[in-house]
Amino acid sequence: MREKSDPASNGREWTKISSQYLAPTSPEPIGLVVDRAEGPWLYTPDGQRYLDLLSGIGVANIGHAHPQVVAAVAQQNARHHHVMVYGEYIQENQARYAEELVEQTPSGLDTVFFVNSGAEAIEGALKLARKATGRPGFVSFKGGYHGDTLGALSIAGNSIYQDPFAPLLKDVKTLPFGGTEALDAIDDGVAAVVVEPVQGEGGVRIPSVDFLPALAERCRNSGSLLVLDEVMTGFGRTGRLFASAHWDLKPDILVLAKALGGGYPLGAFVGSRALLSTLARNPPLSHVTTFGGHPVSCAAGRAALRVLLEENLPQRAATIGATFTKTLKDLLTNSGKVKEVRGIGLFIGLEFEDAATTRAFVNGCRDRGVLLGWTLHHDHIVRLAPPLITPEAVLEEAAHTMSAVLDRL
Ligand code: PMP
Repeated sequence: MREKSDPASNGREWTKISSQYLAPTSPEPIGLVVDRAEGPWLYTPDGQRYLDLLSGIGVANIGHAHPQVVAAVAQQNARHHHVMVYGEYIQENQARYAEELVEQTPSGLDTVFFVNSGAEAIEGALKLARKATGRPGFVSFKGGYHGDTLGALSIAGNSIYQDPFAPLLKDVKTLPFGGTEALDAIDDGVAAVVVEPVQGEGGVRIPSVDFLPALAERCRNSGSLLVLDEVMTGFGRTGRLFASAHWDLKPDILVLAKALGGGYPLGAFVGSRALLSTLARNPPLSHVTTFGGHPVSCAAGRAALRVLLEENLPQRAATIGATFTKTLKDLLTNSGKVKEVRGIGLFIGLEFEDAATTRAFVNGCRDRGVLLGWTLHHDHIVRLAPPLITPEAVLEEAAHTMSAVLDRL
């Protein structure tokens, strides 16, 4: 199709063919037309600018199209693209990224299995746990979200999304998130317990201080593997490189995706060499993936991790996250429409009284150039996850925009 010279009409054209040819995922998609993105900003074809307070849902932690990522991608593009299914050939960026990740993950996690997405990494972790323990069961938590493949959906914490696809995996127990009273349900029939350290789609729920350590101990005692899903919380989001550091957790399997690929599709599950080797035998190739650890995604991810570490962005998320959360509390909670503002690093939830106000707030903010949204499991909780490089003045201004929108509701 020929592009027109008028940028606005290009946007209209793309919208028309999108709605005609792309499968919809909701009756009312947001429909923002994106021409380019840079730092915390998205631009439409006619040059309007939007502040992305979602980071493309937890992906653009170092901002969109960071120059170092762009350069690393260009270099890898010039060398080679896909050459072989994951695990068979030696590729520099894949091997080096695995080494660099292992340097940063909790001790004992020394081996990386690269896949393409969060859900796929969860699938790998579930299969690995079953094969390594010989046990059938899984434990997960109410409000949890781990992706939309059948296995990942089986351990989700919201039946609305599960019921239309029944039957799912049997032997899944779903426990309350954040309390220690139900942990006795983790017994010797449980292969793995899968948990997000802070629930994202469940509404930015931060557990009580004793929950995750008690869970880890219960897993140790029952011989169940602890699978920590840091797809959303990883890469500085909560003020530490990985949220596990807040509780000094050493999971058996760490699941990563989203910001792992620096804007490119990439997922991984990380564990000990002994554990991960389980997938290489009886039979060999027990779990394989064509595109896992794509060389361009690994090059992008390496560059993004370097930026995160060199610019100390996890620490920055902790510092400016605290200020931003306080500003939001001061500006929004007096309105009577926002019940609670809570956050950890630059992962912040605004809990509203009702869904209608939430929707009007989100739409009002978008009309004023600020992108945010409610979480999958809660239509009255807005999640903020800005790029960790967003200037403080920009966040401050966004907080005032939110306050102005709220005043007019
Ligand atoms: N785990 C968590 C905690 C997530 O937030 C998500 C995606 N929102 C996933 C897993 C699934 O990741 P993906 O969409 O890459 O399959």
